[in-house]
Amino acid sequence: MAKRDYYEVLGVERGASEAELKKAYRRLAMKHHPDRNPDDKASEEKFKEANEAYEVLSDAAKRSAYDQYGHAGVDPQMGGGAGPGGANFSDIFGDVFSDFFGGGGRGGSRGGAQRGSDLRYTLELDLEEAVRGTTVTIRVPTLVNCKTCDGSGAKKGTAPVTCTTCGGIGQVRMQQGFFSVQQTCPRCHGSGKMITDPCGSCHGHGRVEEHKTLSVKVPAGVDTGDRIRLSGEGEAGAMGGPAGDLYVVVNVREHAIFQRDGKHLYCEVPISFADAALGGELEVPTLDGRVKLKIPEGTQTGKLFRLRGKGVAPVRGGGAGDLMCRVAVETPVNLGRRQRELLEEFRKSLEGDSSHSPKANGWFEGVKRFFGDL
Ligand SMILES: [Zn+2]
Ligand SMILES: [Zn+2]
Repeated sequence: MAKRDYYEVLGVERGASEAELKKAYRRLAMKHHPDRNPDDKASEEKFKEANEAYEVLSDAAKRSAYDQYGHAGVDPQMGGGAGPGGANFSDIFGDVFSDFFGGGGRGGSRGGAQRGSDLRYTLELDLEEAVRGTTVTIRVPTLVNCKTCDGSGAKKGTAPVTCTTCGGIGQVRMQQGFFSVQQTCPRCHGSGKMITDPCGSCHGHGRVEEHKTLSVKVPAGVDTGDRIRLSGEGEAGAMGGPAGDLYVVVNVREHAIFQRDGKHLYCEVPISFADAALGGELEVPTLDGRVKLKIPEGTQTGKLFRLRGKGVAPVRGGGAGDLMCRVAVETPVNLGRRQRELLEEFRKSLEGDSSHSPKANGWFEGVKRFFGDL
């Protein structure tokens, strides 16, 4: 089976920066992660494929070998058949995952309670949803307080006791040659408490991994990169500390018709060359349905028509932007005999008269001047 190009797999340009690669990979990994797509073979394949591509392209040496020699440059089997994907698959994923899930706990305050990590969730939206606002249900993996032990990590009926190594301070002094160095207590990891009889459900961690379902209200007008903060919906804190926050980061999918640039929308509308020449009325799409647009006679291709207020009302307030329709004059194809005759006749009628071709006129003038100056 032929392998797909790694850049194509990640959907990035060949010159993509490390950050772009990582971003593209994260998006794919989130989308196709086996946890989110149980028993879905196609997703699993995509997930592996993305892992393999990222493994190669994120390594400068492998990337340059790949750029020069293609798959043969990086595949240990020299492109021979379908081997298992990237070698240290879970490592890479762990790295990326911990990175965007806030990573390890933030600076542990001495004495136990630690605020839980903030979580990040990428929410894919259609343009229409982003413009109008919506309420979505998301499922996020998170650590929550263990219900059996109420987050203490100690077996029911017992409680954590003061750490015997540090005496509850969380720090120990180590003599290193002439120096006395203060270190986090290796036994209680700085909490000052230790669990002699751990809870069976969470094995003493006080927290267990769970998927939770949340309802997220997305305000109208959001755009890619906007973040919605769900206070306290992040990871549970350790030792009874407060939970972190969940940041839902919006990513608006590309639209088949409209391109968005801030509050303005752009779209291309093909028009026949007869309509362009004679003028006419077009139906153009807007997010609220079709509207009529008058095209004056003599409209040139590329001309922008602005429909005020038909863009997007930004989430931070202010009036709605505009919809810009760019007309593209279309050359007719598959002409019948009669149509051909009419056009031939039309062409003859233009012969020797340049007044009907404003652009060509200027262009030929330019060419004449160019050669004259030579
Ligand atoms: Zn427990
Ligand atoms: Zn200790």
